[in-house]
Amino acid sequence: MSKILIRGAQVLGGAPQDVLIDGEVIEAVGSGLSAEGAEVVEAAGKVLLPGLVDLHTHLREPGREDSETVLTGTRAAASGGYTAVFAMANTFPVADTAGVVEQVYRLGKESGYCDVQPIGAVTVGLEGRKLAELGAMHESAAGVTVFSDDGKCVDDAVIMRRALEYVKAFGGVIAQHAQEPRLTEGAQMNEGVVSAELGLGGWPAVAEESIIARDVLLAEHVGSRVHICHLSTAGSVEIVRWAKSRGIDVTAEVTPHHLLLTDELVRSYNPVYKVNPPLRTERDVLALREALADGTIDIVATDHAPHPHEDKDCEWAAAAMGMVGLETALSVVQHTMVETGLLDWAGVADRMSFTPARIGGLAGHGRPVSAGEPANLTLVDSAYRGEVDPAGFASRSRNTPYEGRELPGRVTHTFLRGRATVVDGKLA
Ligand SMILES: [Zn+2]
Repeated sequence: MSKILIRGAQVLGGAPQDVLIDGEVIEAVGSGLSAEGAEVVEAAGKVLLPGLVDLHTHLREPGREDSETVLTGTRAAASGGYTAVFAMANTFPVADTAGVVEQVYRLGKESGYCDVQPIGAVTVGLEGRKLAELGAMHESAAGVTVFSDDGKCVDDAVIMRRALEYVKAFGGVIAQHAQEPRLTEGAQMNEGVVSAELGLGGWPAVAEESIIARDVLLAEHVGSRVHICHLSTAGSVEIVRWAKSRGIDVTAEVTPHHLLLTDELVRSYNPVYKVNPPLRTERDVLALREALADGTIDIVATDHAPHPHEDKDCEWAAAAMGMVGLETALSVVQHTMVETGLLDWAGVADRMSFTPARIGGLAGHGRPVSAGEPANLTLVDSAYRGEVDPAGFASRSRNTPYEGRELPGRVTHTFLRGRATVVDGKLA
């Protein structure tokens, strides 16, 4: 059966409507659509969103398949309502050649759960010294347009300038992990009251803010486009707001965890809260929420960073940095942005689908829920409340900071080009 009727869904949180899918596309949106010959999904009371798009996912393949593979990562993505993810380049080998990005792209195609768009490294081996083959990666079958050394900062201003100039020719973008390395040597958590009390090496806000300030000025100087990964401080928000007011072509993302969690959690010494950039203060959290609401921060990106048990279940100083996020992102956004009245569901569709697809230049995703568009859709039971149980994750890793925490909302169905990847909350 190729036809599916999603009946009575609140499209982008609006009035109930029916959505008829025929094959890979949306055939019609309206009320009282005929269910003849169609499989019916009853969606009364549920919110229908365009399939979510994550501009910042670590899939770990090739090289760290013990923490995640393209297959397990795309299954996690589908579970979280995503139909496309951008896979970061810090794999082993690094995705700094056409060969590696094509491998990741091909594995994504084979998975069938979620489209995978590889991100290419900016510099060879993420070493920050020599530009990678940006043009070859762009011209490869993977068609890379987003480049990032994420995990590491492109800290050399000349290399950053050259990268911005290079991608300008084909409309690409550099996604910067903003972290001045000299200011964060040995850093273990946010620099502030809590780090002073705990005696842990501090990670000052200025390490992030100084790089963002430099890079928006570089982008302006060469007339290119820069994207700021996982913005985490109130000061970073001010710089991006200033840059946008000046007409600089900058976009920025925030992670779900930076919208909710603070450095107070580090008092537990539980490495599940160890992340890069670190959890900041309540003041930062509130500034990030406000910036996401007013559009200063363009999108939510997960920075899904799976790690095997042994890399997280150890003392704080030795633990790896990062958290899984694909399967909880929408719930955290509902909790922090929708239920606080800062963003409506149309706003969520913008920040988690339309705009990330646009920044990444991804055709076929982040499209309106209307006739003739690809049927990439996510159906959400927003009334659901439940405790996060990592045992139920599709990800190969379990390093979530939300275990046992009650969060709202549950993805009941995800459709990738008309094919259900999630049905009744379970992977199809
Ligand atoms: Zn990063």
